[in-house]
Amino acid sequence: MNANAVEQRVFNFSAGPATIPLSVLQQVQEELLCYPGAGASVMEISHRSKIFTEIAADAELTLRNLMAVPDDYAILFLQGGSALQFSMVPANLLKGTGKSASYLVTGSWSKKAIAEAKKEGEVTLGFDGSDGNFCDLPTAGSQLVSEEAAYLYYCSNETIQGVQFQSEPNCPDSVPLVCDASSDFLSRPLPIDQYGILYACAQKNAGPAGVTVVVIRKDLLERADDSLPGYLNYRNHASADSMWNTPPTFAVYMLGKIAHWLQDEIGGLKAIESLNCSKASLLYETIDSSDSFYRGHAQNDCRSKMNVTFNLPSDQLQAKFISEAASQGLDSLKGHRSVGGIRASIYNAMPLEGVTTLASFMTDFANANR
Ligand SMILES: *Cc1c(COP(=O)(O)O)cnc(C)c1O
Repeated sequence: MNANAVEQRVFNFSAGPATIPLSVLQQVQEELLCYPGAGASVMEISHRSKIFTEIAADAELTLRNLMAVPDDYAILFLQGGSALQFSMVPANLLKGTGKSASYLVTGSWSKKAIAEAKKEGEVTLGFDGSDGNFCDLPTAGSQLVSEEAAYLYYCSNETIQGVQFQSEPNCPDSVPLVCDASSDFLSRPLPIDQYGILYACAQKNAGPAGVTVVVIRKDLLERADDSLPGYLNYRNHASADSMWNTPPTFAVYMLGKIAHWLQDEIGGLKAIESLNCSKASLLYETIDSSDSFYRGHAQNDCRSKMNVTFNLPSDQLQAKFISEAASQGLDSLKGHRSVGGIRASIYNAMPLEGVTTLASFMTDFANANR
């Protein structure tokens, strides 16, 4: 990568597609014109070639080790984004069962998910945070689902509102727990054996857009009816090692690079969790010590370590904040159009230096504008 291009890179706080580690981009650049031994770029070779099947198998194995995924779980690489999972989950686990599924609606993404699930079967609201403007989550230990439910669905980190579950919601053993972990995937270790399905699109914390990772307990693969459209049936993807049709080869290749970066350069998910905690604390401390100049959206015990959301005293100050920050190389801080305010997305690949620079900008800006 030429030095000039590296210098032009900003601290990118985009919520997704989001920042990617520079060292990964540099490796990809090196291999782009000719993947070693392939005589072509990774985008130009058959997904059934020996080289690509090894790339895909290595990505899967590296993820499996990193996340400590047990053997009785399959890892699938799919397309369609997390949005398609909103439909695939109920199509496989709810449709035609005569049961109902319980949804925890804690923000924009789980709200979209329940709307799609209603098309496939009966759903109940285990929790509805809309009255509180999605700033809080169910209290620990509360009963959220009946023992007979088809599954319990939740979103571990609401990317738009910036609320994050600090641990898994209460769920009986008989009920599969289903999680949309799109925006906090690979940000911390998880007890995978407590999940039925955990899925994430890659473009927040695990690479470029194009691939969605689905971790699914193998017994759940048997639940879908054969009448489902082939692509929507998890069983087809699992039995074909995610090559039921052409997988998003370049995105899978990059996902593997990100998994290696986490394993080899960062030192695993415990190490990244501790970095993520330090980064988030810096911003929340800045908010809390600003004499209410900055007001955090999420209640303290549900604050996201990935998407830090807050407001300024007026819309004018908000606009000024965004443009002054951008002029200092702090980019994409505007909150989602549906909620406004400021959102700093500080995924795994956001360096500590980006967060310390933002925190001192925030302190200076508050002092100059209160
Ligand atoms: C981004 C996001 C989605 C949507 O992902 P697509 O790949 O655009 O379908 C769903 N859920 C969460 C939590 C997200 O952050």
